[in-house]
Amino acid sequence: MSTEIEALARANVRALTPYQSARRLGGNGDVWLNANEFPLPVPFELSQQTLNRYPECQPRLVIERYAAYAGLTPEQVLVSRGADEGIELLMRAFCEPGKDAILFCPPTYGMYSVSAETIGIEYRTVPALDNWQLNLPAIAGKLDGVKVVYLCSPNNPTGNLINQDDIRALLDMTAGKALVVADEAYIEFCPAATLAAWLQAYPHLVILRTLSKAFALAGLRCGFTLANKPVIDLLMKVIAPYPLATPVADVAAQALSEAGIALMRQHVAELNANRAWLYEQLPQLPVVEQVFPSETNYILARFTDSPAVFKSLWDRGIILRDQNKNPGLAGCLRISIGTRTECERLIAALQAFSVEQA
Ligand code: PMP
Repeated sequence: MSTEIEALARANVRALTPYQSARRLGGNGDVWLNANEFPLPVPFELSQQTLNRYPECQPRLVIERYAAYAGLTPEQVLVSRGADEGIELLMRAFCEPGKDAILFCPPTYGMYSVSAETIGIEYRTVPALDNWQLNLPAIAGKLDGVKVVYLCSPNNPTGNLINQDDIRALLDMTAGKALVVADEAYIEFCPAATLAAWLQAYPHLVILRTLSKAFALAGLRCGFTLANKPVIDLLMKVIAPYPLATPVADVAAQALSEAGIALMRQHVAELNANRAWLYEQLPQLPVVEQVFPSETNYILARFTDSPAVFKSLWDRGIILRDQNKNPGLAGCLRISIGTRTECERLIAALQAFSVEQA
């Protein structure tokens, strides 16, 4: 990039390290276990032939079906270009750049900080406790000027749920001062843990959802923000005029039909069975030091020599997500749950690596 052009850019953008998405990191694999995607494509046909027209800003059928699926009313649902857009819309609507802050608890999903940096909002971190639960006293001490607290439950990349009693305590301490955003991108793998029913009691609670994970539609780019009407109305002020392409709305409505939801639940059951199988296999390998419990479609594990394991698998076409640089996660790799065949290939490759090392 020419330095003259770079000098024109906003200082925070010049300083920004963009989110290292799995796709940006690349790789030449044939077993992709690095982006928490569903391992197989689900076929859909487009039913709308109206691409000459702009789409609805908030496609009615998608909103109605998602509201029914989540047990909410349509006015409590906003649809956007993935949950990632929801993360950013909340900052744009609620945080004054240079004045307000957001807060989150690492290790967690990387887009909260990247969005804050992009927009020019301060982000504060309160590291999670050793058991990856909230450090409530430390959060209480850092809330001054914070407008949005992001929680991820179940958390990416650790896989654990945040204790509900702690979330209640956080909601009590932020009432009237800040939003609490519960990122439920992986909630379909532990549906009983959703906070959706809490929206009735907490006007400052917001929930993020996505079709990218259990619904097997990462390529669609479709996510949801669930909140009470006053929050949704504010987000509607800052959202793009046509955030969802017509084919996206078309496919999302099909995915949220009764048949679509039944298929999603079947996929979740399959992945959960594969996860249980990996929980039997992984601890038997000498290179595996620790396997953390997970409520999601991925498993975090600590390895004796994680860079060598990562590279050895990479060279065999099996791509995992390195977590070494995440606070507290030295030696950890995150493994998305694939098909049973992919899980078997992973274990065979780890066995082969263990033999080579011995
Ligand atoms: N939140 C979490 C915790 C995630 O892991 C992801 C996906 N990487 C997202 C949000 C973003 O989801 P989407 O694909 O809907 O933008």
